[in-house]
Amino acid sequence: MVVCTCGKPAVVKTSWTNRNPGQRFFGCPTIGSNCPFLGWLDPPMCPRSVDIIPGLLRRINAFRGVVEELEEQRSKYKKFVVCDELNVPWYGERISHLEDVLKHLKNKKEKKEKERKEKEMKEKEMKKRKKKDDAEGSSSNF
Ligand SMILES: [Zn+2]
Repeated sequence: MVVCTCGKPAVVKTSWTNRNPGQRFFGCPTIGSNCPFLGWLDPPMCPRSVDIIPGLLRRINAFRGVVEELEEQRSKYKKFVVCDELNVPWYGERISHLEDVLKHLKNKKEKKEKERKEKEMKEKEMKKRKKKDDAEGSSSNF
Protein backbone atom coordinates (compact mmCIF):
# COMPACT_ATOMS: atom_id res chain seq x y z
CA MET A 1 0.00 0.00 0.00
CA VAL A 2 1.28 3.44 -0.92
CA VAL A 3 1.29 5.87 1.99
CA CYS A 4 1.66 9.63 1.57
CA THR A 5 4.06 11.81 3.56
CA CYS A 6 1.33 12.65 6.09
CA GLY A 7 0.98 8.94 6.78
CA LYS A 8 -2.42 8.41 5.12
CA PRO A 9 -3.13 5.72 2.54
CA ALA A 10 -2.68 7.30 -0.89
CA VAL A 11 -5.60 7.57 -3.33
CA VAL A 12 -5.45 7.04 -7.07
CA LYS A 13 -6.10 10.19 -9.10
CA THR A 14 -6.10 10.87 -12.81
CA SER A 15 -4.06 13.59 -14.44
CA TRP A 16 -5.69 15.62 -17.20
CA THR A 17 -2.75 17.83 -18.02
CA ASN A 18 -1.58 18.12 -21.62
CA ARG A 19 1.67 16.38 -20.69
CA ASN A 20 0.02 13.42 -18.88
CA PRO A 21 -3.54 13.11 -20.14
CA GLY A 22 -5.53 10.30 -18.52
CA GLN A 23 -2.57 8.96 -16.60
CA ARG A 24 -3.25 7.74 -13.07
CA PHE A 25 -1.03 8.61 -10.12
CA PHE A 26 -0.93 8.18 -6.35
CA GLY A 27 -1.95 11.22 -4.38
CA CYS A 28 -2.57 12.43 -0.87
CA PRO A 29 -6.21 11.98 0.22
CA THR A 30 -6.21 15.41 1.85
CA ILE A 31 -7.38 18.06 -0.60
CA GLY A 32 -4.96 20.98 -0.84
CA SER A 33 -2.21 19.26 1.16
CA ASN A 34 1.46 19.97 0.49
CA CYS A 35 2.37 16.29 0.20
CA PRO A 36 4.99 15.78 -2.51
CA PHE A 37 4.21 13.81 -5.68
CA LEU A 38 4.04 10.10 -4.84
CA GLY A 39 4.48 8.53 -8.26
CA TRP A 40 2.62 7.23 -11.29
CA LEU A 41 0.41 4.15 -11.26
CA ASP A 42 0.32 3.87 -15.06
CA PRO A 43 3.44 3.46 -17.18
CA PRO A 44 4.44 6.48 -19.31
CA MET A 45 2.26 7.10 -22.34
CA CYS A 46 3.50 6.82 -25.87
CA PRO A 47 4.15 10.21 -27.57
CA ARG A 48 1.25 9.64 -30.00
CA SER A 49 -1.27 9.33 -27.12
CA VAL A 50 0.13 12.39 -25.39
CA ASP A 51 -0.23 14.21 -28.70
CA ILE A 52 -3.79 13.09 -29.47
CA ILE A 53 -5.67 12.82 -26.14
CA PRO A 54 -5.75 16.55 -25.21
CA GLY A 55 -7.27 17.37 -28.60
CA LEU A 56 -9.89 14.66 -28.19
CA LEU A 57 -10.72 15.97 -24.72
CA ARG A 58 -11.18 19.48 -26.08
CA ARG A 59 -13.51 18.15 -28.76
CA ILE A 60 -15.54 16.15 -26.22
CA ASN A 61 -15.90 19.24 -24.04
CA ALA A 62 -16.92 21.34 -27.03
CA PHE A 63 -19.57 18.78 -28.02
CA ARG A 64 -20.74 18.60 -24.42
CA GLY A 65 -21.26 22.35 -24.48
CA VAL A 66 -23.27 22.07 -27.70
CA VAL A 67 -25.38 19.23 -26.25
CA GLU A 68 -26.12 21.26 -23.10
CA GLU A 69 -27.14 24.24 -25.19
CA LEU A 70 -29.41 22.10 -27.38
CA GLU A 71 -30.99 20.41 -24.35
CA GLU A 72 -31.77 23.82 -22.91
CA GLN A 73 -33.33 24.97 -26.18
CA ARG A 74 -35.25 21.71 -26.51
CA SER A 75 -36.76 21.96 -23.04
CA LYS A 76 -37.91 25.47 -23.92
CA TYR A 77 -39.54 24.48 -27.18
CA LYS A 78 -40.71 20.98 -26.23
CA LYS A 79 -44.04 22.22 -24.91
CA PHE A 80 -44.66 24.26 -28.05
CA VAL A 81 -43.67 21.42 -30.34
CA VAL A 82 -45.81 18.85 -28.51
CA CYS A 83 -48.81 21.14 -28.59
CA ASP A 84 -48.20 22.09 -32.19
CA GLU A 85 -47.75 18.53 -33.45
CA LEU A 86 -50.79 17.23 -31.60
CA ASN A 87 -52.79 20.30 -32.61
CA VAL A 88 -53.44 21.24 -29.00
CA PRO A 89 -54.18 24.89 -28.39
CA TRP A 90 -51.38 26.58 -26.54
CA TYR A 91 -52.41 28.47 -23.44
CA GLY A 92 -48.95 29.58 -22.38
CA GLU A 93 -48.09 28.03 -19.07
CA ARG A 94 -51.50 26.43 -18.61
CA ILE A 95 -50.54 23.39 -20.63
CA SER A 96 -47.26 22.72 -18.96
CA HIS A 97 -47.84 19.10 -18.05
CA LEU A 98 -48.19 16.17 -20.32
CA GLU A 99 -51.30 15.12 -18.36
CA ASP A 100 -53.07 18.27 -19.49
CA VAL A 101 -52.17 17.54 -23.10
CA LEU A 102 -53.35 13.94 -22.78
CA LYS A 103 -56.61 15.03 -21.12
CA HIS A 104 -57.23 17.46 -23.94
CA LEU A 105 -56.54 14.78 -26.55
CA LYS A 106 -58.85 12.32 -24.77
CA ASN A 107 -61.66 14.86 -24.73
CA LYS A 108 -61.04 15.61 -28.38
CA LYS A 109 -61.08 11.90 -29.27
CA GLU A 110 -64.29 11.29 -27.33
CA LYS A 111 -65.95 14.27 -29.02
CA LYS A 112 -64.91 12.98 -32.44
CA GLU A 113 -66.19 9.49 -31.60
CA LYS A 114 -69.52 10.92 -30.46
CA GLU A 115 -69.80 12.97 -33.66
CA ARG A 116 -68.97 9.92 -35.75
CA LYS A 117 -71.64 7.82 -34.02
CA GLU A 118 -74.24 10.54 -34.43
CA LYS A 119 -73.38 10.82 -38.12
CA GLU A 120 -73.64 7.04 -38.50
CA MET A 121 -77.06 7.03 -36.80
CA LYS A 122 -78.28 9.83 -39.07
CA GLU A 123 -77.08 7.98 -42.15
CA LYS A 124 -78.80 4.79 -41.01
CA GLU A 125 -81.98 6.74 -40.38
CA MET A 126 -81.74 8.31 -43.84
CA LYS A 127 -81.24 4.91 -45.51
CA LYS A 128 -84.16 3.45 -43.58
CA ARG A 129 -86.38 6.37 -44.61
CA LYS A 130 -85.24 6.08 -48.22
CA LYS A 131 -85.97 2.34 -48.27
CA LYS A 132 -89.39 3.00 -46.80
CA ASP A 133 -90.03 5.77 -49.32
CA ASP A 134 -88.87 3.49 -52.18
CA ALA A 135 -91.12 0.71 -50.95
CA GLU A 136 -94.09 3.03 -50.65
CA GLY A 137 -93.27 4.56 -54.03
CA SER A 138 -93.19 1.17 -55.76
CA SER A 139 -96.36 -0.03 -54.06
CA SER A 140 -98.20 3.06 -55.19
CA ASN A 141 -97.36 2.17 -58.79
CA PHE A 142 -99.61 -0.84 -58.57
ZN1 LIG B 1 -0.66 13.41 2.47
